[in-house]
Amino acid sequence: MSITHLLLDIEGTTCPVTFVAEVLFPYARKALPAFLASHAEDPEIQDLVAQAEEAWLNDDHPSAIALRSQSIQAEGATDIGAYLQNLIDRDVKLTALKDLQGRIWRNGYAQGELVAPLYADVAESLQRWHKAGLVLAVYSSGSVPAQQLLYGHSTAGDLRALFSYWFDTRVGSKQDESSYRSIAEQMKLEPADVLFISDSLSELEAAASAGMAVLFSDREGNPGRDSGAFERISNYRRLHPANGSQ
Ligand SMILES: [Mg+2]
Repeated sequence: MSITHLLLDIEGTTCPVTFVAEVLFPYARKALPAFLASHAEDPEIQDLVAQAEEAWLNDDHPSAIALRSQSIQAEGATDIGAYLQNLIDRDVKLTALKDLQGRIWRNGYAQGELVAPLYADVAESLQRWHKAGLVLAVYSSGSVPAQQLLYGHSTAGDLRALFSYWFDTRVGSKQDESSYRSIAEQMKLEPADVLFISDSLSELEAAASAGMAVLFSDREGNPGRDSGAFERISNYRRLHPANGSQ
């Protein structure tokens, strides 16, 4: 075993899944109307609002149509904040909405209202691995800017400098073997030099078939606890990948 690089998922691997589902998304939903009001003069926000208005006009979902007539009746104008919240509730992905959520999170982190809660053993383990010469990389379905916000404002402070590479789904789906080959290529190594840790069995299967070493992250509160044939890990304090042992 010659592990030189550690590739880490975030949710369920270094940070509880509840942070995203129960903190980040509700925070953006709640903050949207006030954020739009306080940035009404910002041309970038005006542009995003125009994109959302356009999407609303073409949205034939009954709740979107009902909301439109209600808001025109009540206020004489469309309430784009209410529509964006409607999209969040319906789990509809709209680029303009994603962009606005990203801006709201950036504000929330900057104001100290959002702090990313890492598992208790994560920060010290990242420091130890980094100090031991392991190269650390992130691979998460959250965008690279969102990953950097999270590690830049964690319960252990700003940890961004510990990571040399950041990958999101622009490299490909986390379920595709080719994504892991491409990540190894971008880091200029063989997949076998990389240890990938994730709480998702299908991600581990993809990484393993690309040739990476893998470990299943088994943490309290994770949605999937089935590790298949893979070795499980629930604490990184005793993981020393360079020695090929945990
Ligand atoms: Mg995960």
